[in-house]
Amino acid sequence: MENGGYRFKKITEDITLLYGFPEECCMYAVKGRDKILLVDTGMGTGDLNKALAVLGGGLPALVFNTHGHADHCGGNRQFPEIYLHEGSYADADRAEEEKKTLPGAEPVEGILDYDWRKCPVHEGNVFDLGGKTIEVLETPGHTPGCISLLDAEDRILFGGDLVVSNDHCSHMLAYVEWFSFSTVSVETWYRSLQKIKARQKDWDYILGGHDAFLLKPYYLDELLDMCRDILNGTARPYHPQLKPVYGNISCWKLEREHTAVLYHDEVIFDKK
Ligand SMILES: [Zn+2]
Repeated sequence: MENGGYRFKKITEDITLLYGFPEECCMYAVKGRDKILLVDTGMGTGDLNKALAVLGGGLPALVFNTHGHADHCGGNRQFPEIYLHEGSYADADRAEEEKKTLPGAEPVEGILDYDWRKCPVHEGNVFDLGGKTIEVLETPGHTPGCISLLDAEDRILFGGDLVVSNDHCSHMLAYVEWFSFSTVSVETWYRSLQKIKARQKDWDYILGGHDAFLLKPYYLDELLDMCRDILNGTARPYHPQLKPVYGNISCWKLEREHTAVLYHDEVIFDKK
C-alpha cells in the first residue's frame, strides 16, 4: 500500500493532511526537525506507521487524540502510546467497539496491534518537535475531554471537532448525542471557543477534524456569535426532526453562512 494506504495533501511545508476512508476524521502530520507528530488516528483503515515513515523519514512519532470518538482514535492500536486528555479515556476505551458499527472500519491485515498506553496531557503542556513546539489547550465542548493543539511556528490551531463547517453538520449530530448523555453544555463550549479566540494572535487558521481545508477565523466568530444568541435566549433556531437518525434525541439547529450548531435545551447551561 503506497503511503500506508492514505492520500496526502500538503498544507504547509511541514504539515500534511492524511485522507483515509470518507467516514474517518482528517488526520494531520506535523514534522519537526527531531520528531513527527500525528493529530488523531482516524479509524485505522491504513498503515499509519508507514504513512509517518514516508512523511517523516524515520523520525520518532508523537501521537495525539483530540478526543475519544472512534473516527479519531480508531487507529490507536498501531502505536505503543497515545497522548490524550483524561476526560477522553472512557471514550477511547469504547472506541474499538464503537468502531465496529462504522462503515469501512475493517481491521487492516498485518498491522501492529498494541495495548496502547495512555499518556495524559493538560492545559499548557508543550511538546518540542525540534524547531517547532506544540502547546496543548483544554477545550471541552464537543466532548468533555477535547483538546486543541497550537502550532505557533506554523500559526495553525488543530481544533479537532471543536470548530466544524456546516458541510459537516451531519457530523455534529454526534455532538448533540454527546450533549444528551454528558453534561458538556453550550456554556462550556462557548468558554473553549473564547479561549482559542483569545489566542488568535498565535494562529491564522484552524485545521479541524472534518474539513480538509484551512478554516479562517470567521468560522470561529460565527460559532461564538451563535453561542451568545443561544445563551442569551435570542437564538431563532428551527427543529430539524432528527429522530430517525438518532433514536429519541431531537434538537435545535442554528445556522450561519459557514457553520451550524445543533443543541439541546437541557444542556445549554452548566449544571450548578
Ligand atoms: Zn467527534
